Formats: sequence, structure tokens, C-alpha cells
Amino acid sequence: MKIYSTMSREKEDLKSLYKDKIKLFVCGPTVYDDAHIGHGRTYISFDTIKRYLEFKGYSVFYLQNITDVDDKIINRAKESNIDPLLLARKFEKRFIEDMAALNVYSVNYFARATDHMDEIIDQVQRLIDKGFAYVTDTGVYFEVAKFDGFGKLSNRNIEELETHRIDIDDSKKSPNDFALWKNREGEEYAGEPVWNSPWGMGRPGWHIEDTAITEKYFGPQYDIHGGGLDLIFPHHDAEIAQIEAVSGKEPLVQYWMHTGFLNVSGEKMSKSLGNFITIRDLLKEYSGETFRLFVLATHYRSPIDFSQVSLHQAEKNLNRIKNYVESLDNKIASEFEKGNISDDLSKLSNLDDREFLEEIVRFDYHDSNYATLNKGVEEFFKSMDDDFSTPKAIASIFTFIKQSNKDLSDNKIIIDDLLAIKHWFTDISQILGINFNDYKEDTGANEEALLEIIADVRLKLRAEKQYALSDEIRDKLLDLDIEVND
Ligand code: AMP
Repeated sequence: MKIYSTMSREKEDLKSLYKDKIKLFVCGPTVYDDAHIGHGRTYISFDTIKRYLEFKGYSVFYLQNITDVDDKIINRAKESNIDPLLLARKFEKRFIEDMAALNVYSVNYFARATDHMDEIIDQVQRLIDKGFAYVTDTGVYFEVAKFDGFGKLSNRNIEELETHRIDIDDSKKSPNDFALWKNREGEEYAGEPVWNSPWGMGRPGWHIEDTAITEKYFGPQYDIHGGGLDLIFPHHDAEIAQIEAVSGKEPLVQYWMHTGFLNVSGEKMSKSLGNFITIRDLLKEYSGETFRLFVLATHYRSPIDFSQVSLHQAEKNLNRIKNYVESLDNKIASEFEKGNISDDLSKLSNLDDREFLEEIVRFDYHDSNYATLNKGVEEFFKSMDDDFSTPKAIASIFTFIKQSNKDLSDNKIIIDDLLAIKHWFTDISQILGINFNDYKEDTGANEEALLEIIADVRLKLRAEKQYALSDEIRDKLLDLDIEVND
């Protein structure tokens, strides 16, 4: 399969460094407030990427840091008059709850910066020992000029860094040099979290926490590093400089993956711009599954323009898929009732049961005799293999549903193929992290009542022998993937 790397700016063949194992690190949140749906976009994307890699047979270890010491946390804690570490714990907990609500469970280990102070201090010391970092009164700094090729990920040169300098500090050799350790001694820093280090009491810079954490769990080289587009520069370029300087090995990773922004009216959704919707607020109106489908309808590298209209469309699309799965289940159940399967399967009455879903694995959708299914399956996996193109994969599901719906209501699909379709949709559910089987919970009360009225009208039309009109209603319902059995 192909995977795009920001470093080469090309799609490359995916090859893991060691056997079928993939080490994946994605930059985690700075926990000073509730996560917004832009964060949700990035983490749903990587969750789906991990799901698909696992589906392909890789064993993926997904590591994510939690930035729990940082200026933003300290400032917010001062405003709210609470301890910065307590504030960080509160929002870390809420972040993990939000992820669960979006069905993002894929992170194997959350590594807090504050739990890795020894590793951070040790890495800073090695950078000093190797001559890449120097100590001043205000802290320890990475000397950018000492690292050949700084900016190779973003393709920016040192001159461009100038415009990006965050703090002007006379003690630094160059304004481009970034902090590895910030001294925080004295009255003015009272109440801020500090740790003891060979350079005095203080706290780490932002970039070093990630390389200290990844070096501990993955070593100096691993497979995939991910994050949002905004992190390429300076954060990820700084990470490369730190770890390659300390280990003398390159590259840090085989593939750099970056997600596009979730934008509002063309601007990145962010806390600082104040144009954000928290995941919690969104979930008051839409389900986590709807939001997943909304996110995955765009390629992970492209921007998404947030709008209620497109969210609503995602909700409708989700219902279309669920309606199809419901019709499929009904058909399978009726085939079972008719005894059209000489198999133990028919004893498994609940089609959502684990046991049933495990059994249908025998019905291989790759070599079914139903051409529409073969085509759908081929398109779906070809798209996913092409740098996780979820929008094309999802489009192939809708094309399939459109063609298959008619065959389903015309009883043209044999039971083995029905089961193969069920198998495919179960795999799709797993890959996209959206459960299409829970259609029963999803039909709104109003929608059901409305359908009953329409069904009644059709019955009356048929009683009056107005078949053409009744068939027209049936066909129009079918266009909406609602199947009517007379
Ligand atoms: P932060 O807590 O701001 O460091 O962000 C955590 C992760 O979410 C990073 O990978 C960011 O790039 C990503 N992120 C933040 N805002 C957005 C957005 N509007 N769209 C997509 N990803 C975002």
C-alpha cells in the first residue's frame, strides 16, 4: 500500500522497519481546555489509519504524548486560581472521555511529559555533551546552526526561522535557537511547576518532551510520526534536529503524516481565534459516528470546511448506510426462516451477535459471484490502499448500495452473497470505526411514525387498485434506501 510522507512529498510504498510491526507516534494535546472538533478531526484520522493498518495485518503500537506542562496550562491555571498540574489532569481526563465518545480507543499508551522528566533531562544533557546545546542563565538551548540541514521537513532555511522566533532572549547565541530547558527560579515563577535539573529548577521546552518520550519507547528510529499540519514547523523540524543530533542516526522516522485543518470560513479552528466548537458541544446535537463519517468524507491531508449543512449531510449518509444494513439483515433473516441455508448459521438468530459475525468470516467477499459486490470491494480497498483515501472508499460504499438495493428488493442476491456483503460491511464498520449495525437505535420516532403513515397510504392505494401510484411511492422510497415489502 502507498503512504504519503511529508518528507519526500510523495506517496511511498509502506514498509515497516521490523517484520509486521509498526511504531506510530502522534503528537497529543496540550491539556488546558476541552478539545475542539479540529482536534477531533486529527485524532479520528489517525485512529482510522491505525485501524486500517491493523486490518492489513500489521501490529501497530500507537504512542501519544500528553503535554501537561506548558505556558498555556500555567496561564489558564493562574486565571482559574488552581494548581497547573491539577488543571492538566482534569482536561486530560476530559480529553480521553471525548476520544471515547468519538470511538477513538486506538492509542496504546498516553505518555505524559511530567512522567518523563528523567528522560527529558538525560536527553538535554546528551545534547550538551555532544556540543549541540549550550547553557545560559535562562536555560538550555539547542544551537540550530550546529545541526546541518535544519528545516528539512518543512523545507525552510535558517533565515526563515528568524521570522518565527517566539522569545527574544539576549542570552541566546542566535534568536533561532530554541529552548530545551527553561529555568524557572525566583519569586516571579512562584506556583509554577518546576523540576530539579543540573541547570537549576525549571521545566522542559516543548519539542524535547516528544523526542524524550519516543526515544524511551521506540528508540531513535521508528516507522510513522503524525500530527496536524501546523506542527511541521518548527515543532517537527526541531524534533528531527534533537533526535538525529543525539543519536547520530537518520532518519528519525520512515514516514511523516500530517492532517489538514478543520477550518471555519477558511480559517483554522483554534482556541486562540475563538472560532471553535468543543467536541462536547457538537455531541449534544450529532452522534460521534456522524462526526466520524463527516471527517472521513474528506481525505486526511485535505482541509475540511466545517458547516452545519455538511454535518447534516453526513448524518443523512450515515442513515443511508444503516438503512441498507437493516434491509440486508432483514433479507438474511427471511432467508434463514425459509430454510435457505443448510448451515449452523441459521441457529444464530441475532445478526449483531459476535458469534454470528465470527461465523460469516467464512463467506469471503473477495470471491463472491455477485459482480456488484466484487466491484465495490475492489474500489473500497484500492482507495484505502492509496494513502488511506477514505472519501473514495466511502463513495464506493454508496455506489454499491445504490446498485445493490434494487437487487436486494428483487430477491436477486443469493444467501451466500448476502452473507458475504454482511461480512464486508462488518469489516468496513471496523475500519471506519462506525457501527452500522445499530440502525435500530437510530431511527427517530418521528421518522418511524412518518413511514407508518406512508405505508398506510400505500395500502389504501392498493386496496383501490391504484397500483401505478403505489409503485411510484415504493420506488421513491427505494431511492432513499427504504425498502417496502408488500
Ligand atoms: P494542540 O493541543 O493545539 O497542540 O493540538 C493537538 C493536535 O490537534 C495537533 O496535532 C494539532 O495539529 C491538531 N489540531 C489543532 N487544531 C486543529 C484543526 N483546526 N484542525 C485539525 N487539527 C488540529
